[in-house]
Amino acid sequence: MAGEPQDDCLFCKVVAGTIPATIVRETETTVAFRDINPQAPTHVLVIPKAHYPNAAELSVAAPELAADVLRETRAVAEEDKLDSYRVVFNTGSGAGQTVFHAHAHVLGGRGMQWPPG
Ligand code: 5GP
Ligand code: ZN
Repeated sequence: MAGEPQDDCLFCKVVAGTIPATIVRETETTVAFRDINPQAPTHVLVIPKAHYPNAAELSVAAPELAADVLRETRAVAEEDKLDSYRVVFNTGSGAGQTVFHAHAHVLGGRGMQWPPG
């Protein structure tokens, strides 16, 4: 069923606490934790606790939960005192998605180029 935990999903394991992570924020519906391979001084992943394979599916199946994730990206940026930052939802392997549990990257603390690679 949509939203159910998946046995083979890394981020469902972070939510369950069976894989350790440096958690920076947690709400009833979301978890925010530091990326294991940071690409900027702040590189935090914000995930819904419920499993959806990507942001596109999350936005359609659970729009209020998608809003929770987006709200948490702002909270992470505020906590790290970022006035400029980038929020990225890689969607599909061709766009660089490697973990198929919806997540927002919050990147900041350095200059950013556009267009991204
Ligand atoms: P994607 O490439 O799917 O957009 O992002 C997945 C992110 O998860 C990558 O930036 C990667 O470094 C991060 N990541 C992969 N495995 C782990 C892990 O075990 N712990 C943490 N904290 N981050 C992870
Ligand atoms: Zn999952």
